[in-house]
Amino acid sequence: MTMLTEEELDLQRSVRSFLDAKVAPLVAEHEQARTFPWEILPSLHEFGYVGGLVSPDDGGDDLSYSMLAILMEEAGRCWGSLRTTLNILTIVPYLISVVGTEEQKSRFLPDLLSGRRRAWFAMTEPDAGSDAGSLRTRASKEGDSWVLQGRKIYITNALHADVGIVLATVDPEAGPKGITAFLVDGTESDYAVHDIPHMPVRGTSSCELVFDGTRIPEHNVLGEVGRGLSTAMKAINVGRLNMAMGAVGLSQAALEESIKFATTRQQFGRPLGGFQLVQEMVVEIATLTQTSRLLGMHAARALDAGDSGRQECSMAKYYCGESANKAASLALQVHGGAGLMEESPVERIFRDAREATIPEGTSQIQILQMGRALLGQSALR
Ligand SMILES: Cc1cc2nc3c(=O)[nH]c(=O)nc-3n(C[C@H](O)[C@H](O)[C@H](O)COP(=O)(O)OP(=O)(O)OC[C@H]3O[C@@H](n4cnc5c(N)ncnc54)[C@H](O)[C@@H]3O)c2cc1C
Repeated sequence: MTMLTEEELDLQRSVRSFLDAKVAPLVAEHEQARTFPWEILPSLHEFGYVGGLVSPDDGGDDLSYSMLAILMEEAGRCWGSLRTTLNILTIVPYLISVVGTEEQKSRFLPDLLSGRRRAWFAMTEPDAGSDAGSLRTRASKEGDSWVLQGRKIYITNALHADVGIVLATVDPEAGPKGITAFLVDGTESDYAVHDIPHMPVRGTSSCELVFDGTRIPEHNVLGEVGRGLSTAMKAINVGRLNMAMGAVGLSQAALEESIKFATTRQQFGRPLGGFQLVQEMVVEIATLTQTSRLLGMHAARALDAGDSGRQECSMAKYYCGESANKAASLALQVHGGAGLMEESPVERIFRDAREATIPEGTSQIQILQMGRALLGQSALR
């Protein structure tokens, strides 16, 4: 029994078999070296990663959100770092295509969609994480340029990309209404990038960006001045769906590894899978995986139906992320000591699942945003 259409099943089968054959064999080595096989990316573009949400007029693949959700589940099932990387690479061209000017689209989209250039997205700062509206990076107008002053942290793959979207305030007194999105082209604007070593998704870099008098041409404002947060929310909503479905993929991988292990490892003269307590853990992982998948696909279908999908994406991000952590922890338990060894995929899945509840709004922020919508009162401040 499947909830997917024939076309969706075809996409799932073809991307899964490609990732199993071409990417899965590279994961252990890159995880160990904390590197990413960038050379595989152009082949992934062919499935609709990166250009999936961009219209054909702008050179994209115009996939449904449901198709994108399937792509992200498969990326997460293969490797958490792959899903994290593809999320950012997908949302940046999407944002440029929905709010960019024709000139910005023609300047940035062909390179991003072909994989000749890669992108980062920078909102988080040392003193502004969940409370993004309080960000301090300052954009001041000087002649026909904006001059940026400030720092961003935890920015995915900024070391490996040279096109970015940065959020900065043009008027600190205006609070969230001063926040503006800017396109940054690393070939014309100077900024510094440093790696911040981190625990999960080791094939990605989490970077600090330092803007110290960085000049950005006036025509690089993305969307309207003062509407940066609402511009960012368009990407963040899709990012939540991507993260939710990536978490489903991690749970699915935890399930597959657990079944493999429980049916081959023997103790007390029979396979682990013959013990009721082990069966309970495996069934719990399967249930968490399937309930997560249903919720994630429900969010994707809501977006496909033209709804804002805010509540659905929040619920999916919250539930799928928390469930992936439970599933990964159970899978580790099924594996016993082997699950804690770096040679086991479960050790990586456990670390990568830890990421699922933090970026694109923590679980707590999702709860507070859903609570506000359900109860009509904000508990955020
Ligand atoms: C691997 C990784 C990749 C990332 N990539 C990017 C990226 O590419 N671009 C980018 O801009 N950012 C990125 N981030 C940053 C991410 O979006 C933030 O870490 C996240 O929004 C949380 O902000 P914070 O870390 O400052 O935590 P804080 O906001 O300081 O929160 C700390 C804790 O307090 C809780 N909390 C905060 N406010 C409330 C409240 N009102 N009520 C209840 N609890 C609350 C949070 O839920 C959390 O548990 C990335 C982070 C990670 C870990």
